[in-house]
Amino acid sequence: MKRRLTLQFPREAVHQPITYRLAVDYDVASRIIRAQMAPNQRGTMVVELSGDIDELDAAQQWLASIGLEITAADGEIRIDPDRCVDCGICSSVCPSGALRCEAPDWRLQFDLRRCVVCEQCIAACPLEAISLKL
Ligand code: SF4
Ligand code: SF4
Repeated sequence: MKRRLTLQFPREAVHQPITYRLAVDYDVASRIIRAQMAPNQRGTMVVELSGDIDELDAAQQWLASIGLEITAADGEIRIDPDRCVDCGICSSVCPSGALRCEAPDWRLQFDLRRCVVCEQCIAACPLEAISLKL
């Protein structure tokens, strides 16, 4: 199963090789969706973890034990069809292929099942047509 989390790193934990430890110690694969990290500063990472439920629970406990704040990356992306002009900018930043603008009509298509709620499309849209519904 997959679990999408937002991890807040305290300054002292930003150097932790968490994707390596998750893979080796917990058999959990991680895909970093978005990260804002800098040496000696607090960091934020949105990550999708894949593993069985016990491994994911154990991995999440370890992340908490090293001082990370963990929240589920919940919510649902909504696109306002009255604002959208099918420019395709959002599809160019979407890491999961949930947003596509393709031939023949080049209209924006949104596949909710693929969306990992990384929120990159929200900032990318010049017409503020995309929002997050919590
Ligand atoms: S939040 Fe937007 S950019 Fe991120 S996966 Fe979903 S549709 Fe794509
Ligand atoms: S960036 Fe905004 S206007 Fe352009 S296709 Fe995406 S939702 Fe529509």
